[in-house]
Amino acid sequence: METIHFKTVDPVSQELLRGASRMGLGLNWERYEKQQPQDGFLRLGLSCPYGCLQGPCRIDPFGRGAERGICGLDRDGMTAALLLRLTLQGVLEILPADPAGNSGEIRWPASIRDRAAAAVKSLGGAPLSSVAISEGALLLARPSASPERLARQALRLALYGTGVASQARTKSSAGSMPCSAGYGLLAGEAILVGVTGRASQSLIESLMEKAAALKKPEVRLVSLGDWIPAGGSFLPIACTSGEAETVLSSGKVNLVAAGPGTDPGILALCAGMKIPVVPSAENPDAAGILKQASDAFDRRSAAPFDFDPKLVGAGRVNLGDAEIAAALQEGSPAKIALLGGTDSLLLSLGYLPVEMAKALRGEDYAVASWGDAAAWMVKQELPVALLEADEGPLAAVSALASAGKLPLLKGICFSGLRNCRELTLALGLAALGMKVSLATPIPLWGSEPVRTLLREELAAMGGILTHFDHPVRAEELLDWFIRS
Ligand code: SF4
Repeated sequence: METIHFKTVDPVSQELLRGASRMGLGLNWERYEKQQPQDGFLRLGLSCPYGCLQGPCRIDPFGRGAERGICGLDRDGMTAALLLRLTLQGVLEILPADPAGNSGEIRWPASIRDRAAAAVKSLGGAPLSSVAISEGALLLARPSASPERLARQALRLALYGTGVASQARTKSSAGSMPCSAGYGLLAGEAILVGVTGRASQSLIESLMEKAAALKKPEVRLVSLGDWIPAGGSFLPIACTSGEAETVLSSGKVNLVAAGPGTDPGILALCAGMKIPVVPSAENPDAAGILKQASDAFDRRSAAPFDFDPKLVGAGRVNLGDAEIAAALQEGSPAKIALLGGTDSLLLSLGYLPVEMAKALRGEDYAVASWGDAAAWMVKQELPVALLEADEGPLAAVSALASAGKLPLLKGICFSGLRNCRELTLALGLAALGMKVSLATPIPLWGSEPVRTLLREELAAMGGILTHFDHPVRAEELLDWFIRS
């Protein structure tokens, strides 16, 4: 526990982690530590990603073991294929957001149409459509294509996925919505319903409506790390996604409404702590949920953690182009940085978003953020612009391009990646000519030729994708924003 500051920068979270340890509760941090060292082959891109049942084959990064798979595939082909596999998965994760985007050619917003056309041209000129998906899947059926072909297809898919995300956004995004975040949301006597995953909008709104009528104790709905729009605002965010289990260990949450995408660790912890869980995808009855939460509140332990009500920050999430541009232009800064993304246990939670935002503000950058990183900044009441969690950086690029301010954008940094969707968007933004960095290592370090290929392809489109083979320090990323 003397190394607890390596887990989270938040002193309250540190206190909660100590309490969980005393109670013998295993949280995500214990599982993370037991997983070390993680599969080095896969982390480098040297574990075969093809849909082949003769494997799995792996290639020794040090050249002391297997240098090729059974079929003869070498490390460059394997690494490039893994990049394509991850990008293909990312596109599939993006598609449900806009089923109409699953067919026909991408219709880019006017502000970035020329950039997209230049990128498509650089990648061979064939129009971008859902055909890119089946092409990618076919290339991953069996090794035959060159690393160049695989890497180019990964970029085409990343561009396609980014285009689909962009189409979905232009249909639904406008205005701004209030948000709040912090442990203070859990303070005092209240029945607390935690919401995780992609809970249905109608259920949340129905819960909010019914909860509003209940007093003494009041009923509060809080998000356990997701940005969930409901009733003209975002559900108050009690914690970031990396700290959801830490919050549950406090004993304050009386029931969890779990949407699709909820981590199994949360469900297991709830089972161990006897916190009722309602799967929100099963269309449960709101009144029944609140009755269950109330019953659990009556059975609660005598001394749950006592949170300080002052620990709450507030802000507004900018959704429309005009609001994003206005938020980023406040004070007419000469430089803009986009810094956001998901918590990663590779680094002390909150460290990168908080340190970087403070340092960039100190260098007179306007900063905009999304996802867990944005929640950390709201908690700390840092003066930053807030963006929507899924398409935030893409929306900001589009808004700045519309306002003719794109030259002010000095970089887009993903402080952590949750899934292939985010990797695909990062790659797509680089393909649109943006300077992008990833604080989470990606599995390309098994092949220098593939890294070079990617760098050169992106450079031809005016873009950069910087990534590291180690948990990155804030100073490295600051240097990247300011000097590279
Ligand atoms: S495609 Fe080749 S390298 Fe991959 S698992 Fe099959 S035989 Fe092994």
